[in-house]
Amino acid sequence: MKLALIALALVAATALAIVFTQTGERRVSLVIVNGTVVTMDGAGRVIANGGVAVDGSDIVAVDTAEAIERQFAGAERLDAAGQVVMPGLINTHTHAPMVLFRGLADDLALMEWLTKYIFPAEAKTVSPEFVRAGTRLAALEMIQSGTTTYTDMYYFEEEIAKETKAAGLRGVLGQTVIQFPVADAKTPADALGRAETFINAFKGDPLITPAVAPHAMYTLDGPTLMAARGLAMRHGVPTLIHLAETRDEVKTAQDQYKASPIGYLDRLGFLGAGVVAAHGVWVSEPEIAVLRQRGVGVSHNPESNMKLASGTAPVPGYLAAGVAVGLGTDGAASNNDLDMFEAMRTASLLHKLQSNDPRVVGARTALEMATIGGARVLGMADRIGSLEPGKRADVIVVSMASARQTPLYDPISHLVYVTRGDDVRTTIVNGRVLMRDRRVLTLNEGSVLAEAREWAVKVRAAVQ
Ligand SMILES: [Zn+2]
Repeated sequence: MKLALIALALVAATALAIVFTQTGERRVSLVIVNGTVVTMDGAGRVIANGGVAVDGSDIVAVDTAEAIERQFAGAERLDAAGQVVMPGLINTHTHAPMVLFRGLADDLALMEWLTKYIFPAEAKTVSPEFVRAGTRLAALEMIQSGTTTYTDMYYFEEEIAKETKAAGLRGVLGQTVIQFPVADAKTPADALGRAETFINAFKGDPLITPAVAPHAMYTLDGPTLMAARGLAMRHGVPTLIHLAETRDEVKTAQDQYKASPIGYLDRLGFLGAGVVAAHGVWVSEPEIAVLRQRGVGVSHNPESNMKLASGTAPVPGYLAAGVAVGLGTDGAASNNDLDMFEAMRTASLLHKLQSNDPRVVGARTALEMATIGGARVLGMADRIGSLEPGKRADVIVVSMASARQTPLYDPISHLVYVTRGDDVRTTIVNGRVLMRDRRVLTLNEGSVLAEAREWAVKVRAAVQ
């Protein structure tokens, strides 16, 4: 009897040992399990009790939690019970350092806002130190609110790139080219030279995609626009431009070139694959077809467009025509934050109101624009924008536990209509955990905020 019991115990122990060695046989850097995995893949899969295995910079498996635990042993294991695991959000248009102008002046007409506040403040404060401090603050806010890739157009972009890398974020960063003298370039030729140096310094970087950012058709002459475009094409990098943002821009194009902004740029031969057009508000039906034919992606910035009363972009028309559409916050001076959850919600509500149809820009469409749609706009859909094996591990874990999120019937509805950036618990980029359970690991939160407050003193003095 005793012997039999011992024998039984031995058998049980052996069986357990076998189960143990079979569990998580493949060693990987990170597994996330027990969450609701919203993949945003082509099939739109949502896995109720799911998991993601990450090795180094890449996603190696997306499956049920049970299958992930059976196959993989993570050096780090995140339990995401009660939370959503999803691709990190992609901001397709911002000016990161402008967070230092947040709330400086609001509720003004665009030209008064620009000429009385933003341009004077920029003229007196923008420097390598300013953009570094601003980028650190923006990066902190983005990590805290679940943005893993952002697209930038500003000055001293190489400094922005260094801070972006240090914070661990992915960036498509465009060196600005503009006709008039600015902080980092006296002439457009200087700016083009800076852009090329910047491209050469960061080309092939795992986190930074350098880009050229000709500011807009109304702030550059034709030859400079085409020189910027040519530079981007020679290096195979994106071209970032503000396009058809306001009625004023349309009027300028008509007065100067007897064409619409899109008509003018197309006549120049500017439009093509790799162009990311921010705003695209004043765009007619035939021009939507032109953008589609040329392979131009559009960054939709609903909050900035509403705050500056620029107009409503024809997003349902873009989507129907098959134009790639992503979401952007624009600079924090005209938003006033970098929260992509707000951008999703605002986009959805704005187009329902505008089209008088609640079926327009539903929750899944808004979520697509903030993830895989944004990846398409940036030409990065093979690497980011969804949770799929072989893609980079840009992943966020979002709490669904607040009163605001209770009860939970449909995670996609909640992500768009009730979730806020603050609900993001964990942010991972390229397989590296940047924030774990609300603690940012790559930036010193206290010193980033203190430094920003110090800059605010100089900014305030600059506009008095
Ligand atoms: Zn902008």
